[in-house]
Amino acid sequence: MSDLQTIELPDIGDIDEVEVIEVLVSEGDSIAPEQSLVTVESDKASMEIPAPMAGTVTSVLVKTGDKISMGSHLLVVDAAAAAVSDTQATANVAETSSSTEQDTSVTADTAAAGRQTDESYQLVVIGAGPGGYTAAFRAADLGMNVLLIERYPVLGGVCLNVGCIPSKALLHTAQIINEASDMADHGISFGEPQIDLDKLRGFKEGVISQLTGGLAGLAKQRKVTVAHGVAKFTSPNSLSIDEGETTREVGFENAIIAAGSQSIQIPGFPYDDPRLIDSSGALELEDIPERLLIIGGGIIGLEMGCVYDALGSKVTVVELSKELIPGADRDLVRPLERRLKKRFEKILLGTRVSSITANDKGLVAGFTAANNDDAGSDTFDRILLAVGRSPNGNKLDAEKAGVAVDERGFISVDNQQRTNVSHIFAIGDVVGQPMLAHKATHEGKTAAEVAAGHKAWFDPMTIPSVAYTDPEVAWMGLTETEALAKSIPFEKASFPWAASGRALSIARNEGITKVLYDPESKRILGAGMTGPNAGELIAEAVLALEMGADIEDISLTVHPHPTLSETFNFA
Ligand code: FAD
Repeated sequence: MSDLQTIELPDIGDIDEVEVIEVLVSEGDSIAPEQSLVTVESDKASMEIPAPMAGTVTSVLVKTGDKISMGSHLLVVDAAAAAVSDTQATANVAETSSSTEQDTSVTADTAAAGRQTDESYQLVVIGAGPGGYTAAFRAADLGMNVLLIERYPVLGGVCLNVGCIPSKALLHTAQIINEASDMADHGISFGEPQIDLDKLRGFKEGVISQLTGGLAGLAKQRKVTVAHGVAKFTSPNSLSIDEGETTREVGFENAIIAAGSQSIQIPGFPYDDPRLIDSSGALELEDIPERLLIIGGGIIGLEMGCVYDALGSKVTVVELSKELIPGADRDLVRPLERRLKKRFEKILLGTRVSSITANDKGLVAGFTAANNDDAGSDTFDRILLAVGRSPNGNKLDAEKAGVAVDERGFISVDNQQRTNVSHIFAIGDVVGQPMLAHKATHEGKTAAEVAAGHKAWFDPMTIPSVAYTDPEVAWMGLTETEALAKSIPFEKASFPWAASGRALSIARNEGITKVLYDPESKRILGAGMTGPNAGELIAEAVLALEMGADIEDISLTVHPHPTLSETFNFA
């Protein structure tokens, strides 16, 4: 029985037409999901189009030089041959890596558990976010036979699909809208922005698909096998992959858990109402609500607030604690808070949303003050819930592998990213705070190197944090709040951007740069910056900390003038 399916060119963002520059498969080839089929090129970029399913190619419908657009037919594939092609693809991987000592073959008997498996790998990685794909690629570069498992059809995890990247694409738009409007004070008026939401969404989707498509190509180049399905452990050396219609049993010598996190939900809210959204819903940009309530004044909530404010929504933020961005020093957050107070409709601190009810006019949020007094209610067109993220550690049947998961879903690891089961590693959001992509990637690299037998440790002196709000807030190392709480001796130097020529020339003098240093050795202990591009500027401070620089090293380092980077030197 054959199951012929036509593979079409998918949506590749706001590009109308692309040219086929290479056809990577021929008639009769067995293909695996995510295997690159054709390479296409536009005036902006080239990308490889991945196979949406496994099967055997029965006809190739394009050739080099063809101009094609979304929906154009690329190939016909017999998907019924998928089982055969899966086995062949795995066999190919085993063949290409047969030179490595630890290599194992298809249909291995997983020794430790005694379970019969369909295939076996030196390393399986669960989750293809920034932690997982970095780990898989690094391990493959080190010669390991790697399977990368992702439950969604595209690679990239939260960061590329519904996190860092789409939010920054929209924040860039917000920044341009605000800068254009601010130009009126300089005598330059552009008029009201005309917002084409479909086109803006298309731009954001294009950025995502360029990056996720690139990952599929990188996986292929490195001969990393990719499986799409939900992975769950069945023993310390095996797991099952639920691919929908079929379930595969896979054996492994090492595993890396990179399963990430998901938005926290507050019980009792009407989640079946599409007007109640999380950050992924907010990034979908379905409409521009007239009044938007954001529950949570942390980084994600405020970034989305900046986007919707610039697009024209009246934004209210409600935050349970007494301050925005809890955890960051107050002097750094203050300039942001001052600006947001002017731009947003309301900022309610020390307040929580205790109820949400839906009616035809909108969602009615009931507020409760910190002392439990009723703080009234208000109606909004949409409500964005951004109260944090919880790890996915307890969705993996980890106990079947003997891996300890705490009651919140976090998995503890040592500084080599090993869990309590020494050949199973965990990285990224699932191992704890800070839940940031750059922490996940560095942990992924460490785990892969250790799994490959290298001596590697994850022991950075700091993981920098950035709120890409307007203005940006960035900090690293010791914070003043932490130093005071733990009685760590420090001295502080700060430089207000009102005295920076560059800050004045871009009319953004509200910023601040501060440095904390050891009173004896004068070594840098921590630093923070608030202002445009603070997220870029903080990297110098991170390097200074890692290199053990003291404040004289910074002051003797010639910084270009006039730049915002000078503020670190001036401080
Ligand atoms: P994830 O990216 O969460 O990836 C985990 C992957 O595992 C997912 O693709 C998931 O589908 C898959 N998975 C889970 N369980 C299974 C299973 N059983 N089987 C198969 N697959 C599974 N961080 C920054 O550093 N900078 C930012 O600017 C930033 N902005 C953000 C903005 C938003 C709106 C959000 C929500 C987050 C943002 N983050 C940012 C955080 C960042 O996205 C995460 O820290 C990062 O993605 C974590 O990477 P990870 O590899 O641990 O997990």
